[in-house]
Amino acid sequence: MQTAKQPIVQLEAVAKSYGAAVALAQLDLTVYAGEFFTLLGPSGSGKTTTLRLIAGFERPDKGRIMLDGQDVAALPPFARAVNTVFQDYALFPHLTLVENVAYGLRAKNMPKAEAHAEAEKALAAVQLADFAGRKPAQLSGGQRQRVALARAMVNKPRVLLLDEPLGALDLKLRHQMQTELKRLQHETGITFIYVTHDQDEALSMSDRIAVFSQGRIEQIGTAFDLYERPASVFVADFVGSSNLLGGSTLLRPEKVRLLAAGAEAPENHAAQPGVVREATYLGAVTRYQVALADGTSLNVMESNALPVGERLRLAAGDAVLAVWPRDAARKIGN
Ligand code: ADP
Ligand code: MG
Repeated sequence: MQTAKQPIVQLEAVAKSYGAAVALAQLDLTVYAGEFFTLLGPSGSGKTTTLRLIAGFERPDKGRIMLDGQDVAALPPFARAVNTVFQDYALFPHLTLVENVAYGLRAKNMPKAEAHAEAEKALAAVQLADFAGRKPAQLSGGQRQRVALARAMVNKPRVLLLDEPLGALDLKLRHQMQTELKRLQHETGITFIYVTHDQDEALSMSDRIAVFSQGRIEQIGTAFDLYERPASVFVADFVGSSNLLGGSTLLRPEKVRLLAAGAEAPENHAAQPGVVREATYLGAVTRYQVALADGTSLNVMESNALPVGERLRLAAGDAVLAVWPRDAARKIGN
């Protein structure tokens, strides 16, 4: 993220309904130049609608949308300094990659030789320089996604809007492309507004994240803010897994340790006896479900970092003492 905090996209009190369905209730949002900003939320929470409003494919019912400090209400999509990358890529099948990427430049009357030179540079940036003469059908899904990126970036937009761009890729490719996208964003300095429903993706890529629920933003913050200081039960639950003690006190599963029953609790720790109900070995970690004496069901995630000989190897039915640092249990909203 760049140091100068220059607002580049601002939404003020934006509302949008489709007939009786409220897609966005009342949205305020400021994205700064150079940020990797993510809209995170479940399906139907209003993420795509927000992107389409910024791009100009939709008009807000109420409120203002500003790009670089200028109200863009009257501007059609092509007149806004933003480009969108969709999940389905939307490449032209009969054109080569270089023709696909050069298409927008040619439409703006750039001479062919110059447009192709720019397109080749953009293809090189996404590591497809050697594929310039191929057609989209001759590419893998991940490669097609990169062409779509090159095609958006060749226009040198101030802001790139990406709507679940990796949703169609398998997990391994998705991880590769996440790294690639971060690199491209860093190298070009273009502001990215990225939509995903995948909290891991959001946490690992973003400078800041807005968590959406039912057409509203529940919280805006860094990955750390959202995970360590969720503003609502919804955010606590959606971002990472959680225990809610007494309905409103958050205790993350990895902050709990399980000691043998009868052990003494360390200083400054809360302690509760319980019984292991389920133990699932997951390689790097083991996940436990523990029934506490007061009736609470506690999720626990323990690192398997200790040497095998030094670990308690707990199984269902074992009596334990669950302990956690007192300050690891936080009242939500504080
Ligand atoms: P997301 O991208 O978070 O899944 P959307 O912004 O696509 O959510 O949708 C938000 C809400 O608006 C949903 O309830 C959806 O059904 C509704 N919606 C979106 N687009 C339309 C449309 N063109 N017509 C009617 N309802 C729509
Ligand atoms: Mg969507």
